[in-house]
Amino acid sequence: MLKFYKVISVLLAVFLMSFAPLAQAQSPKVQTQVPGYYRYQLGQFEITALYDGAIELDTKLLKNTTAADLNRLLSRMFVGNPKMQTAVNAYLINTGSHLVLVDTGAAKLFGPSLGYVLQNMKTAGYEPSQVDTVVITHLHGDHMGGLNDASGQPLFSKATILVAQADNDFWLSQKVADGMPAKMQPYFKMARDSAAPYLASSQWKTFTNGSVLVPGIQAVKANGHTPGHTAYAVESEGQKLLIWGDLVHAHAVQFANPGVSIEFDIDQKQAIATRKSIMKAMAASRSLVAGMHLPFPGIGHVRADSKGSYSWVPIEFAPLAKTAGQ
Ligand SMILES: [Zn+2]
Repeated sequence: MLKFYKVISVLLAVFLMSFAPLAQAQSPKVQTQVPGYYRYQLGQFEITALYDGAIELDTKLLKNTTAADLNRLLSRMFVGNPKMQTAVNAYLINTGSHLVLVDTGAAKLFGPSLGYVLQNMKTAGYEPSQVDTVVITHLHGDHMGGLNDASGQPLFSKATILVAQADNDFWLSQKVADGMPAKMQPYFKMARDSAAPYLASSQWKTFTNGSVLVPGIQAVKANGHTPGHTAYAVESEGQKLLIWGDLVHAHAVQFANPGVSIEFDIDQKQAIATRKSIMKAMAASRSLVAGMHLPFPGIGHVRADSKGSYSWVPIEFAPLAKTAGQ
């Protein structure tokens, strides 16, 4: 009888042990995301994509399309509607002789879901004081808001800030601002406030299209979204990357139909023409592109489909560089 109880108790113990993994599953959730940076090697250049965060844009901001088409394209790509998640990215380029930041993110100009470029830059191993050149794609708040800290003090103490002449002349002009509707006024003020400390210290410089800003980085005219909206052609050892700024705000819609514009485009017609011509060129040359509002890290290729329609093909996560023996 004693032996019988012994067998039962052993069986019971085995039975209870089979539930042990369930008990171990009760670990506290970590509830933090991975740091928002991604490194990419382009020839001898080290590119670090920096995540500023994401905002929810109203799909009604998209113009030159029908509600039915919009719904179809957003649904097809599983993108939210009427609120679509839109990333904000910046790119840090270490050329070996220069450390160049392309755009700065929004800082706190557009709420708490944005403003993480600085934090992610530090986590990625760089300090703003190391940056010698900041190039801005255009003077919208989500691209230059991060030039200064929360108290308006400049963050990039040793950098030259480079802005296209046409954007400089548009956004920093009181006369232009005065001729614009009231709802546009805050955007002019943001540009002026961000530029002010750098203008005062003579760190603010303008360039014209086609300028080589530092060896391996050239300004490319991409106007329409703003008068001086600029893309940057980056090249090292024959490898090329075009950082195209705000050519696309809604990847789910504007690759399939580059004829769709967004309310923020100052010149809608020109923005569409620029998007069509750059997409066509990038698809034909199979060049790598990066975009400030493409899903992070926002680096990938443009594939031509049919009848002026394109697809976005993001890069795959990869080790930084191949080492001997791999
Ligand atoms: Zn933008």
